[in-house]
Amino acid sequence: MTDIVETLIHELGRQAVLTGLEIGEKYSVDYTGDKPCMPLAVIRPASTEEVSRILNLCSQMDQKVVVQGGLSGLAGGATPQHNEIALSLERMSGIETIDPTSMTLTALAGTPLQAIQEAAEDVGLLFPLDLGARGSCNVGGNIATNAGGNQVIRFGMMRNLVLGLEAVLADGTVLTSMNTMLKNNAGYDLKQLFIGTEGTLGVITQAVLRLYPKLTSRSTALCALNDFPSAIKLLNQTQIGLGSSLSTFEAMWASYYDYVLDHIEALHSPFDERYPLYVLVESEGTDAERDQQLFEATLNAALDTGIIKDAVVAQSQKDMRLFWNIRDGIGEVTQYLIPYATFDISLPMGEMSEFLDRVHESLTAKFANTTKLVFGHIGDNNLHLVVTTGTSEDVKKIFDLIYRLTGAHKGSVSAEHGIGTQKLDYLHYSRSAEEIEVMQKLKNTLDPKGILNPGRVLP
Ligand SMILES: Cc1cc2nc3c(=O)[nH]c(=O)nc-3n(C[C@H](O)[C@H](O)[C@H](O)COP(=O)(O)OP(=O)(O)OC[C@H]3O[C@@H](n4cnc5c(N)ncnc54)[C@H](O)[C@@H]3O)c2cc1C
Repeated sequence: MTDIVETLIHELGRQAVLTGLEIGEKYSVDYTGDKPCMPLAVIRPASTEEVSRILNLCSQMDQKVVVQGGLSGLAGGATPQHNEIALSLERMSGIETIDPTSMTLTALAGTPLQAIQEAAEDVGLLFPLDLGARGSCNVGGNIATNAGGNQVIRFGMMRNLVLGLEAVLADGTVLTSMNTMLKNNAGYDLKQLFIGTEGTLGVITQAVLRLYPKLTSRSTALCALNDFPSAIKLLNQTQIGLGSSLSTFEAMWASYYDYVLDHIEALHSPFDERYPLYVLVESEGTDAERDQQLFEATLNAALDTGIIKDAVVAQSQKDMRLFWNIRDGIGEVTQYLIPYATFDISLPMGEMSEFLDRVHESLTAKFANTTKLVFGHIGDNNLHLVVTTGTSEDVKKIFDLIYRLTGAHKGSVSAEHGIGTQKLDYLHYSRSAEEIEVMQKLKNTLDPKGILNPGRVLP
């Protein structure tokens, strides 16, 4: 056992430290499953004060630390690297307070997202962040990755939902910034240092979150369109027609839609014909009758002007589930696409169409056979692509090609999932040398010894 592990056991007690065979496989890798590596030890603090002591000791002893939340991350950030200690927030779980009057909730960083959603619902309120990993991801991880998910078009990303937080710096300094107010311009807004910085500047230990009134009505439709410009027009019309109740605008290109329907037997298309593009539109509100009328009127107007070629409005939970299952079918079909390169990128709206044309041309010119599925939360500028040639050696070449084009079209190589370790080589396509230099200066200032999540986000 190394000196640092013995010191940590001595300081925190045996129950807080896992070593050797006690360390389960789950601590060795995030959801990507890429390059698993057993950490030197897993330290599981039970309080902010313990996190502070751990980091202070690690800093003194130059021990590198990887921070772990629910390990549902998709960028390799929480996966240990050689000789790192894993600091897991799993024992720091629980809702501390809910204030229905000011509509805020305070939770420890290791609390699963679903527990937060349920606690808000229990008092008739809504915590609107939602994503497929809700049962396993933690609020600390959601903040560290500035998670997006299904309702960004309406409520924004995690950044918009955090009012205050507490974080521990690499040297053990506790920075308590538990603001509960919407307005607070007293100096720098220090919480922003920890939102979306993937654990490289501090360990988040608790947070104050913003809640919203619960939504009680939901209208859903699947629309068939002829082309991408029609999707942009539909987005504009639904934003104007439905206002802030527009909660989902998910595009699925035919490449995606047809592949999912051809590979998942339980699904069927509600349309008689196949179209080049489909959009899943949803609005949510608090008056079922009025909301449904407005929803249908908005879509009818788009049908009348030819923006939509055909549309099916869900008449039941079963219809709604079918539409969402088509959208979520990606989780089931990726097994047929291995080995593949998957992308979570964002692009200015005006660039998306040309970007996709250039991706298509470049892939066709370079590879004999490619399968490319395209879908995304286009209302948030977010495109997902899954591309395969069926050959493992091509995966890196596909990443290189598509990230280069993303940069050329002024896009971001990470819309939601972060840079982690997997996109280090591509950060420069989306951030200037000056931006990266300032990031590095911040990192050097807050973590001069480079012990916290080293090699994530920045080389
Ligand atoms: C099925 C599925 C669907 C998903 N859908 C979405 C989606 O729609 N939108 C989206 O944005 N993401 C999505 N993700 C990715 C993932 O769920 C999110 O990135 C999530 O926010 C990660 O939280 P986590 O607790 O699992 O973090 P982890 O995976 O444990 O860690 C992620 C990063 O945050 C750091 N970190 C974790 N906790 C802390 C902390 N307390 N303090 C400081 N740093 C910390 C880690 O070091 C690492 O760099 C999905 C993942 C899966 C598996």
